[in-house]
Amino acid sequence: MTTKTFTWERGPFDTCWKCGEKEAFGILSVGGDRVVKRCTKCRHSHAETLPDLDKKVIYLDQFAFSELHKVRSGTRRPDKWSDFWAQVDDLLTRAVLLQQAVLPHSDIHHKETIVSPFAGALRDTQEAIGGDIEFVSTNDIQLSQIEEFARAFFAGDDPRVTFDVDDVLEGDRNSWLPDMRITVGMDWSSFVPDTRKGRDETHASVASLIEGWRKAGDGFDEVLEREFGAYLASRQDALRHSMKRFEQGLAENDLFALAEFSHGFVQREIELVRRHARKAGVVEDRLTGATTEFWNWNGNREQPFAKISAYLFASLAAQFKGGRSKMPTPGLLNDINAISAYAPYVDAMLVDNECAELLRHGRCLKELSYKARIFSLSSATAFIDYLRSVVDLTPVNVGREASQLYGIG
Ligand SMILES: [Zn+2]
Repeated sequence: MTTKTFTWERGPFDTCWKCGEKEAFGILSVGGDRVVKRCTKCRHSHAETLPDLDKKVIYLDQFAFSELHKVRSGTRRPDKWSDFWAQVDDLLTRAVLLQQAVLPHSDIHHKETIVSPFAGALRDTQEAIGGDIEFVSTNDIQLSQIEEFARAFFAGDDPRVTFDVDDVLEGDRNSWLPDMRITVGMDWSSFVPDTRKGRDETHASVASLIEGWRKAGDGFDEVLEREFGAYLASRQDALRHSMKRFEQGLAENDLFALAEFSHGFVQREIELVRRHARKAGVVEDRLTGATTEFWNWNGNREQPFAKISAYLFASLAAQFKGGRSKMPTPGLLNDINAISAYAPYVDAMLVDNECAELLRHGRCLKELSYKARIFSLSSATAFIDYLRSVVDLTPVNVGREASQLYGIG
């Protein structure tokens, strides 16, 4: 019987082939595509290459992360969904540890997390559940699509958009998870008032949008046309709005507002459109005109982000025209953004019923194409089945290594 002393290495331990010590050769670290093993006695170490991975990318909305957090911290009040969330937690944990899936977090989560009463803890859970990987922000995804359309417009050819999921992830999807992870808790609470204000404002703007549709009697077709036709006008609006913020910032000596101006979405868009115009030989004093021509280009209807989001709004309008009276939940705009940005790239998304329902409109089903399978609580069983298939399809050699490295059965 040996006494347990602290070692950097951990089990399972083998006999060291170098010094012959029994139960001494253990796991030192895991990461990338390799595991390093070392002898606790003679310190002999070597690295082994691990099997290649191809992890599924699953987007969970904030609601799902928050439910999982409650399951894990034992604070979830029992209800008819208790069983579902416990199963989801179990299957996701297995899928992540078996190196079959990642659940990246995004700027949308950060926006939502900040308004949650347990922001810090939830963020930790998010990172712990998901594997340490992040989505490129929704704005950056949209801008990179706009960039390709601007390039094509000025070069006079067709836009070529590819939907490689690794292009919208920060970090390496297919690296073996480090077995020991340290998350530094960050206090987000100081951001709360502003974000809440931002959310109330966007919610109010959705309400006035719906009011506008109602007054005009607009349904699916009208709103779709309006969304597509509003490209130029929405950019002009955004510019006016940001100019106003800039002048206000200047008057109030608000450096943050000034910095925001140059990094704002519409400024970045103008910058990249002009860059491609210049490349195509447009002279300096024609650049503004060329930008306007691009914004008026009919081809922009095929921009993936813009197209999906236009259809979602049109579908929402159809619901209100069809007699819906209940206002959307405050998170709807975030869900619309998430679906518009990520659905063409990821394998699956678990979102709010309300948003999943928008995608079930006949025109959306027929005219939108994207890679993701969309799930919500109204397709709860299908989601469980999906997760189970992800776990079950783990290659045997990957499963064998994973169960050794992370201690799962
Ligand atoms: Zn040894």
